[in-house]
Amino acid sequence: MMEFDTVIHGGTLVTASETARGDIGIRDGRIVALAERLDGGNRRIDAGNRLVMPGGIEAHAHIAQESSSGIMGADDYLSGSISAAFGGNSSFIPFAAQHRGQSIDDVIATYDARAARSVIDYSYHLIVTDPSAEVLEDQLPRAFQRGITSFKVFMTYDMMNIGDGGMLDILTVARAHGVITMVHAENNDMIKWMNARLAKAGLTEPRYHAISRPELAEEEAINRAVSLAKLVDAPLFIVHVSTAGGAAIVQRERLAGTRLFAETCPQYLALTREALDRPGMEGAKFVCSPPLRDAETQDALWSHVRAGTFDSVSSDHAPYRYDETGKFMNGRDIPYPRIANGMPGIAARLPYLFSEGVVGGHLSLQDFVALGSSNAARIFGMTKKGGLAPGKDADIAIWNPEATRTMTLAGQHDSMDYTPFEGMELTGVPEVVMNRGAVIVEHGELRATEGQGQFVARAPHALRGPGHRVKELDPARNFGARIAPE
Ligand SMILES: [Zn+2]
Repeated sequence: MMEFDTVIHGGTLVTASETARGDIGIRDGRIVALAERLDGGNRRIDAGNRLVMPGGIEAHAHIAQESSSGIMGADDYLSGSISAAFGGNSSFIPFAAQHRGQSIDDVIATYDARAARSVIDYSYHLIVTDPSAEVLEDQLPRAFQRGITSFKVFMTYDMMNIGDGGMLDILTVARAHGVITMVHAENNDMIKWMNARLAKAGLTEPRYHAISRPELAEEEAINRAVSLAKLVDAPLFIVHVSTAGGAAIVQRERLAGTRLFAETCPQYLALTREALDRPGMEGAKFVCSPPLRDAETQDALWSHVRAGTFDSVSSDHAPYRYDETGKFMNGRDIPYPRIANGMPGIAARLPYLFSEGVVGGHLSLQDFVALGSSNAARIFGMTKKGGLAPGKDADIAIWNPEATRTMTLAGQHDSMDYTPFEGMELTGVPEVVMNRGAVIVEHGELRATEGQGQFVARAPHALRGPGHRVKELDPARNFGARIAPE
């Protein structure tokens, strides 16, 4: 008889493809058996009336990261990973951000030191702000070799954006190495133009943050990013899509076969820009980019979530406290462009998605697992995660689908002094969360020890199909020069 460290018994197993009743046998941190019934196990976890699902994978979070203006977020890899674990996640992929002039090797060494405290498994998406020849030809390929197979670029922010030419260069490198480029798509000049007009009119309260970043700025930039990626036939991942127009472009391009991936975030589904109208400076809590939109946009985004336009729903956890260390780093009474951008949500992401999505009737359980875990594992090359098959890491979340609770700051377990989801009534609680077979959260108690999370070397992105060849770069059409990106 096979010996198990742990048997999860009597639960309803849910993956991105099916639902079944059965037991899971775990040994040495991996799933080694699935059966209708398994005996034995040094530890048996009763999962009767519970859903047993792959642990969540948070694919968009800012942990122990300085912004380009030098503000350090409130969560380090210890508090950030603990908060993620309480939110049903077994692993996450925060960003490792390059500042201009910094080598990628130095970026990775910096984040390796910070991430050593994590209680869940982790990798990084690099943020590339300085695509010099050395970075493109030498440093990035070295990072890919280490299993860091995705990076993000910005089309906005003066300190971050790399221009269309920079994007083409970097997409070409991504194409050659089978890695995936993520993009923050907003038109920088449109926003700067809006900022100047609003400043001139004296309209600088937090609520004008949302006005200053029009939906068109996102739509234009998504369309441009997709066009750039198609020119060099590179896969592209659009982060935090917040507009109906942007989602429609994603949907249209995916239907046309473009290698395009996208996410949206709970804040765009749950909140509107009316939150920015709160009295005094309280609207600052809801300043994030792209900004919160309106109820009509929420409906459109939900219909895209249902229709499969998005691969994942990620938190974009960017924890800036409502004090001088975060939101008010530049002072209390400041115009909106000087308020730190971002809001927390790493612990709220999956509970919100389960409650509003599954219980609310928008999503099947399969959709929930796909959007919260499996798609991120597939797209970002975490080949041992995101599923419940033998051989996979025993990254498992056991949910009580009927338990209800009110979201509170205390329930987030992060280092923040507010949650934008305060007071929300949610159904569904991740009661037991495991990372490689170790229980890290159990009925509201932390069981993990600092540093037990491990770095995950990720696989290259598996390109599907023939991709997109523009006429002018198609060797078969013989336009002369052979300049197709290789
Ligand atoms: Zn972000």
